[in-house]
Amino acid sequence: MNDSLKNWSLPEDAKKILGERFKQLKEKVFLEVFTKDGVNDQFNTLITLFAKELSKLSDKIIVNFYKVGDDFSKKYAVTRSPTVLFNPEKYSIRYTGAPFGEESRSFIDAIIMISQRKSFLSKESKEMLSQLKEPRDVKVFVTLSCPYCPGQVLNAFKAAIERPDLVSAEAVDSMENTDLAQKHNVGAVPHTIINDQSISHGFEPEQRFVAELVTLKPAEDLIGEIQAGGEHVHVDVIIIGGGPAGLTAGIYAARSGLKTVILEKAMVGGQMSITPMVENWPGFRSIAGKQLMEMINAQVRDYVPVLEGQEVVEIKVGKHVEAIATGGHFVGQALILATGTSHRHLGVAGEEKLYGHGVSYCATCDGYFYKNKPVVVVGGGNTAMTDALYLKNLGAKVTILARGSEFRGEQPLKNSVEREKIPVLWNTEIVEIIGDSRVTYVKVKNRKDEKEKELKVDAVFVAIGEVPNNQLATQIGLKLDGYGYVQIDRLGRTNIPRVYGAGDITGGVRQIVTAVGEGASAASSAFEDISHPYWLPNKK
Ligand SMILES: Cc1cc2nc3c(=O)[nH]c(=O)nc-3n(C[C@H](O)[C@H](O)[C@H](O)COP(=O)(O)OP(=O)(O)OC[C@H]3O[C@@H](n4cnc5c(N)ncnc54)[C@H](O)[C@@H]3O)c2cc1C
Repeated sequence: MNDSLKNWSLPEDAKKILGERFKQLKEKVFLEVFTKDGVNDQFNTLITLFAKELSKLSDKIIVNFYKVGDDFSKKYAVTRSPTVLFNPEKYSIRYTGAPFGEESRSFIDAIIMISQRKSFLSKESKEMLSQLKEPRDVKVFVTLSCPYCPGQVLNAFKAAIERPDLVSAEAVDSMENTDLAQKHNVGAVPHTIINDQSISHGFEPEQRFVAELVTLKPAEDLIGEIQAGGEHVHVDVIIIGGGPAGLTAGIYAARSGLKTVILEKAMVGGQMSITPMVENWPGFRSIAGKQLMEMINAQVRDYVPVLEGQEVVEIKVGKHVEAIATGGHFVGQALILATGTSHRHLGVAGEEKLYGHGVSYCATCDGYFYKNKPVVVVGGGNTAMTDALYLKNLGAKVTILARGSEFRGEQPLKNSVEREKIPVLWNTEIVEIIGDSRVTYVKVKNRKDEKEKELKVDAVFVAIGEVPNNQLATQIGLKLDGYGYVQIDRLGRTNIPRVYGAGDITGGVRQIVTAVGEGASAASSAFEDISHPYWLPNKK
């Protein structure tokens, strides 16, 4: 046992939260933990201690320990240390690596689902899975710092619970299994491989994942084939987007007595979840984005359901407002659009082809793969500086490529970049990203003298700003500004009655604190308008 961890135990507040959650356990869950001395020793120690602590919190959790190489490990073809199997007599579900960091979320959820023998898949997903006739082996490569990964791991685990006869699911920590990650050319996570075929990068809405699993076609080919629809759910307010704006709107709408639902296509928290450190949220000098998100999320869930994995593909405004999502059809009286922004792409040759193989838009998720390796961060604003500092801290050899001759951003970040002596190539733009199966070079051009040169790098982290997620807004003809942001008045109203906008989708300074403020305004306006519909002359 690693001496420094000898006295490790779960913090008291974590025990309390887990104890509460484990009250939902129904049947026994067997966690079979395999380790091998000399391989990932620190993780072996931690998973051993963690599993023992869990078993103390509920008599439904039974933990057994084995060595890789013994008969039991051979029976289940366990060769890696550490590995955890869940009820292997019934399911083929495993963690290859220790489920810590972000993955503790999927690990605990998996215990609960298995104990309840329920996959919690939607009716549509279950129907699709019932058509599966051949075996599927799903591997989801993750890192423990990737906030998007647990969602995709749960997609895989849910499918394995629903169809234990044909689906096996494995979450692989890329950090503890670098050889496996390299073998499968993993350069960004979550990276999903089904039957040895690389299927997708990223966390997908549940139905899209299930459709890929059944058809073995990547999501892009399936978008038009997935049937949106399902049951009609009636509420007062539909909120699209589970970032800070949508979550705050949810609290305000529900506290006004309105029946509300928040539909989130990926995972709750939006961009806040990938913000390493927030230093401008009043009341906290410094707080991890993830932690802030968890605090807000816990509060929101006291009031309103947040449905993750529900991508809204169409909205309609008629007698009612409607949102058609990948797992349901929602009908309401008001709709708040809080869909935020997405990463702007460079639009250069090689970017799309090498996405997931060195090209990344999430330093927090993928930085680990480039420890001690040369990488570039492209951009000159706060996000580029934050990413560069994060990567440098991880041990990457990072250079910033900035189009201008100075940074656009906050002074403390500029000071940190200078203090850390991160090299910056000013007036430089990227022309091409080069590599066969992975990034090997970038071609860059100096914008002043037009000279081009090649830099040998293993990764390109793109941080050049955002574009508004305005596809739904354009569907119904919301007024946009010249940059594509939804135009709202001071209280969140758009040009279409009963439709409101909040947060980054409306442009402006695009910060957590402003998103939260706009969420509150939009929900208050929705309440006001549902009570006194201003667009109906006789109801004024
Ligand atoms: C790296 C980084 C660092 C940052 N640092 C800071 C900081 O220090 N301080 C600060 O104040 N701000 C910071 N920001 C900005 C801040 O995170 C955003 O301003 C804030 O998250 C915006 O909130 P939002 O709810 O409007 O949008 P988002 O956080 O973008 O959330 C929108 C949500 O809508 C969902 N969505 C989109 N389309 C659909 C659809 N069709 N159906 C269902 N769901 C959908 C998305 O999945 C997303 O979860 C940072 C951002 C980044 C990327």
